[in-house]
Amino acid sequence: MKFVIDPPPQASVAIRDSDARFPARRVYCVGRNYEAHAREMGKDPSREPPFMFQKPADSVVADGSVIAYPPQTANFHHEIELVVAIGRGGADIGVESANAHVLGYAVGIDLTRRDLQLAARDAGRPWEWGKAFDRSAPCSAISLADRIGHPARGRIWLSVNGAVRQDADISQLIWSVPEIIAFVSRSMVLEPGDLIFTGTPAGVGPLVPGDVVEGGVDGVGTVGIRIGPPDR
Ligand code: MN
Repeated sequence: MKFVIDPPPQASVAIRDSDARFPARRVYCVGRNYEAHAREMGKDPSREPPFMFQKPADSVVADGSVIAYPPQTANFHHEIELVVAIGRGGADIGVESANAHVLGYAVGIDLTRRDLQLAARDAGRPWEWGKAFDRSAPCSAISLADRIGHPARGRIWLSVNGAVRQDADISQLIWSVPEIIAFVSRSMVLEPGDLIFTGTPAGVGPLVPGDVVEGGVDGVGTVGIRIGPPDR
């Protein structure tokens, strides 16, 4: 195929213990999916239908990256999340069969320009500028479900400079991974290469240049990034 400009590189995520990579297609993210986090955001944690937003595939960055403090924010937040990697696509997927569509699991950080997100929320505007910016989706290597199964419980945590800020268990997800897959696939056709960030527990907070951020989900893996100075 002949392109008028060079096509962009395929965004991808490493696979643990493999030299093959996972080609990232879309990045779906679940809003408020832990009760204590819904409360800290000033919202009712009742079990309303989940809601979603997306980040661009090229916002995914690898474990170990240095991420420059982003522009246009003074309140740059971490959100540690269990990430689902879709290996088999489908529409109208049932909760009971949803796990069969999962290639594996990773640990991601939904980086957020909280000031822009909340200003948009309060104005009834899209969250886009607060959520879907460059390098906003650090993600660990994917652990294959063939190896680790389909974790429904396990500690999820994040520390900044060694101090734990987020500490919960993925069993506390309001909407489980199979329920999220079923929900998304009713509105959008899931395809291989899709990633789903499943929501963050309580304890979100600000990052500043120089911060060393580490997080993990027991049984899945860990992710680490460092926040660098603004690069523009
Ligand atoms: Mn999030």
